[in-house]
Amino acid sequence: MLIGCHGLVWTGTFDEQGFDLAVGKSIDAGFTLLEIPLLDPDAFDLGAAKRSLAKRPIAISASLGQSEDTDISGEDPDQVAAGERKLMTALEILSELDAEYFVGVLHSQLTKYQAPATARGRQNSIEVLRRVAERAQQLGIRLGLEVVNRYETNLFNTARAALSYLDELGHPNVGVHLDTYHMNIEESDLFGPVLACGDRLSYVHIGESHRGYLGSGTVDFDSFFRALALIGYQGPIAFESFSTAVVSPQLSRSLAVWRNLWRDSDDLGAHANRFIRDKLDAVATIALH
Ligand code: MN
Repeated sequence: MLIGCHGLVWTGTFDEQGFDLAVGKSIDAGFTLLEIPLLDPDAFDLGAAKRSLAKRPIAISASLGQSEDTDISGEDPDQVAAGERKLMTALEILSELDAEYFVGVLHSQLTKYQAPATARGRQNSIEVLRRVAERAQQLGIRLGLEVVNRYETNLFNTARAALSYLDELGHPNVGVHLDTYHMNIEESDLFGPVLACGDRLSYVHIGESHRGYLGSGTVDFDSFFRALALIGYQGPIAFESFSTAVVSPQLSRSLAVWRNLWRDSDDLGAHANRFIRDKLDAVATIALH
């Protein structure tokens, strides 16, 4: 299994120096996957990424949340078309980096909406993602739609609601991306949603209730990891943590990162890698008895 870390644990900038730092520190902490934020694919320095990965190889995945001008769940055709272009551009970059997973809030703007999603907006989002899923399949990249809380999207906020959306979308190359931080806000428990997803779970984010050190908040990780074992989940698991210690101007505002949860990301990352692997080791024995 790929056990990974979000790039923002290490750096807010992805020039060659930032990439070197994120790649090196992920590997040193014990991770086998680096998830990069691809909020602006047009500005992404592919050459820098390739040079950096040639020095120290690690598997890459990417995530993004749509911005206002690329919200494919909107009703403005220009906005929707711009969102589709952004997703398609990201896919080509990921293909160049041999990435197998493209995840996050691909389906919606990452923001606190002031009104519910409209039927037209939902349909726009589904139609775009159906085409993106097809292109992704040609490139060997699987999509995961992240289930985030009500303050970050209005399209769906629970695993079951995401599954209904996927039923409408109807493409096998799109799965659910669950994040324990968001589940802790919206779901009734951390067990049932995983079982509901079953083999449609394509990606996992592990985050604490305050997005700091794992085990220092209120997330019921024991139930979550048991459920992963019961469905036989073999996909990636990536650690997410955000602090004002490392700032991405764009993403930090969308995610409301206002306080300092840690200063030493080396220690934080190594701890998260151990935490995730220890939980997986423990639940792997469930099948034995
Ligand atoms: Mn997440």
